[in-house]
Amino acid sequence: MPKFLCTTCGLQYSENAIVPSRCVICDDPRQFVPKTGQGWTTAEKLGVDHFNAFRKIAPDLFAFSTVPRFGIGQRAFLIITSSGNVLWDCVSFLDSATIEIIRLLGGLKAIAISHPHFYSAIATWGQTFGCPVFLHEADKEWVVDPDPCISFWTGETKEIVPGITIHRLGGHFPGSTVLHWIARRALFPGDTILVTFDREHVSFMWSYPNNVPLPAADVERIESRLKKVEFDSIYSPFWERGEIERNAKEAVEQSVIRQLKGPER
Ligand SMILES: [Zn+2]
Repeated sequence: MPKFLCTTCGLQYSENAIVPSRCVICDDPRQFVPKTGQGWTTAEKLGVDHFNAFRKIAPDLFAFSTVPRFGIGQRAFLIITSSGNVLWDCVSFLDSATIEIIRLLGGLKAIAISHPHFYSAIATWGQTFGCPVFLHEADKEWVVDPDPCISFWTGETKEIVPGITIHRLGGHFPGSTVLHWIARRALFPGDTILVTFDREHVSFMWSYPNNVPLPAADVERIESRLKKVEFDSIYSPFWERGEIERNAKEAVEQSVIRQLKGPER
């Protein structure tokens, strides 16, 4: 039986002979159902005309996404470390080229996902690479393709391989998590922090497509938690937003003031 994937958000559902009638992610007010209605596909169909494109964006750091753009269109990050490689966030499509590239780079020790919009095809990825997929327990209800590789973590911070920690900051989702690559002073925020197009500021949103900002209390908590995290750069999950390459902590602090008090005029 096939595993159907939602063409709007890229979420993969468990094996089913019948096409799902609704998508839980798209029905949620943080996302949307397109005017043309919900669409579905399978990994097999995607494989006819899709592939994953890789780019090395820093030493030991690759990012890749599916071409042509599929679902939300996010990129995933492959972090190479001497203690094992980490996949941060994920895409819905996995083909033999992707498997071979990642295996040649040393395989995966762990997969961690920032929030349910990027759950994509995590069960397939975890099974293929024989590694755990860490999801925060607070977002357990959004898992629609349960698998033994999925490992729910609790609490506020977890080290997933030596030198790489994940922090649950909440906001966009109760379990929204960021990744900290300690030696590189790099922060991977998922959708907890939005890198704005000037690449000098950030914003904090509950819904991106529907333009709903996060409440002030959430923004203040996120800033307070990040005070203890040492980072200089932020890698956004989208190619078009890219990275804040330096002074990212100051950018976050100034952006919090801008969001809560309004811009200086
Ligand atoms: Zn969907």
